[in-house]
Amino acid sequence: MNHYQAVEALARLRHQFGEHGGVNRSIETSATYTVLDPRTMPEIFQGRLGPDNAGCFLYGRHFNPTVYALSSELAALEGTESAYCTASGMGAISAVIMALCDAGEHVVCSNTVYGGTWALLKEFMPRKTGVTTTFVDTCDLAAVRAAITPATRLLYVESIANPTLRVADIPRLAEIAQQAGIPLVVDNTFSPLEISPAQLGADIVVHSLTKFIGGASDLIGGVVCGSTEFVQSLMDLHVGPLMILGPTMDPQVASAVSLRLPHLPLRMRAHGERSLALAERLAGCGIDVAYPGLVTHPDHALAQRIMNSDYGHGGVITLDAGSQERAFQLMDLLQNQHQFGFVAVSLGYFDTLMSCSAASTSSEMDPQDIVTAGINPGLIRLAVGYTGTLEQRWSQLRAALAEVGMLDQE
Ligand code: PLP
Repeated sequence: MNHYQAVEALARLRHQFGEHGGVNRSIETSATYTVLDPRTMPEIFQGRLGPDNAGCFLYGRHFNPTVYALSSELAALEGTESAYCTASGMGAISAVIMALCDAGEHVVCSNTVYGGTWALLKEFMPRKTGVTTTFVDTCDLAAVRAAITPATRLLYVESIANPTLRVADIPRLAEIAQQAGIPLVVDNTFSPLEISPAQLGADIVVHSLTKFIGGASDLIGGVVCGSTEFVQSLMDLHVGPLMILGPTMDPQVASAVSLRLPHLPLRMRAHGERSLALAERLAGCGIDVAYPGLVTHPDHALAQRIMNSDYGHGGVITLDAGSQERAFQLMDLLQNQHQFGFVAVSLGYFDTLMSCSAASTSSEMDPQDIVTAGINPGLIRLAVGYTGTLEQRWSQLRAALAEVGMLDQE
C-alpha cells in the first residue's frame, strides 16, 4: 500500500454514521462492558473473543471503542495492520521497549532522540529492568551494525531527529534490522504523513499525538502502530505493558484527536510551507539554520527520496544563535517584544513555539552526549506555526535578529 492509498483508507474508515446518525461518532465513556452471555466471560477475559471476533469489549483499560476507532484510523494512516493509542507519547515508547525487551537485554538507539526517550533508555531501563542501550550515530550505518549484539532486541530511531533534524535512512536501517532479526522501531512524531516508516520497512511506528497530530497543544496522547500480533501482545493479561502499567488513553481525548485527522494533511502542508520560507530567508541572510527542505541540509537528498510529496519537509527548523545567552535574548525579544511566537517546549501548534534544546528538551542528556549529538548551546528549535502572514512573521523575526546583532539593522 502506498501513502495515498493510506489517506484514502482513512477517508473510507471515517465514512461511518455516528450512533444517532451524527456525522461524528459518539464517545463511548463506559469503563466496563456487559457480557450478554456469562458463559463467554472466560473466553473474552483471556482475549480469545473480542470486539473483532464475535465477543465484546471488556474493560476500559483494555480496549475502548472510541480509542479503538482512533487507533484504526492511525493504523490506516501509517499503513500498519493494527495500532493502539496511549495516554502519551512516552506511554507508547515505554510500552514498545518493555514489550520487546526482557531483563538484561539490549537496545541500539540513535544518539539524537527526544530527551525523555533518552532518559528512559539511559537511566530508567538499566536501573529498573537491567535493559541497556548503546547510543550510536544512526547516520553511520557501519556503527549501527557494529552496535548490534546477540542480546539486542530492537533498533530505535526518530524519522526526523529531535532536535538535530537529521533524517533517518529508514530503508537501509530496516535492512540492517532485518538481517539481525530484530524490529526497527521509528518515532514518527516529527513527520506524520510526510514519512511513512512502515512503508519504508519499519516494523513498529510510534507517535506523540501531543504534537502535530493533536495540533492545538491542548491534549497529550500517543500511539503504537504495528502488526496485530504485536499490538495484541501489549494487552497481554500477564506481561502486556499497556494492560499491566495502564497508560490508557481517555476516550474524550481519542474523539478529539480523531476529529483532527481529516485536516492533518492541510496543517502539515501549512507548517511545511511556512518553515521552508523562513528557513530560505534565514539562510539567505547568512544565519546558521537547519531544515531538511534546504538543499544545504546534509540529508536533503535522502529526504527527497523517502518523504511523501505534497507535505513539504516538516514543521521544525533550528537556528544557532552562537551562545545560550544570545539564544535566550533572542527568544525573549521574539516572544515579549515582537509577538512572533511563544517560548514553550513542544511542536505542532498553530503558533510558533521556541525552545533552546540543550537547556530544555535535550537537557536529560549528559553534557558530552549533547556535544556529540551536535546540539550546540545556542541552538534554538523553532516549531513553526502557520498563523499570521509570512511577511508579518518575517519582519518580526528579522527585527529581533537585528536587535541581538545577528543581522544588520535595516
Ligand atoms: N517523541 C518525540 C520525538 C518528542 O518530541 C516527544 C515530546 O516532546 C515525545 C516523543 C514524548 O511525547 P509525549 O510528551 O506525548 O509523552
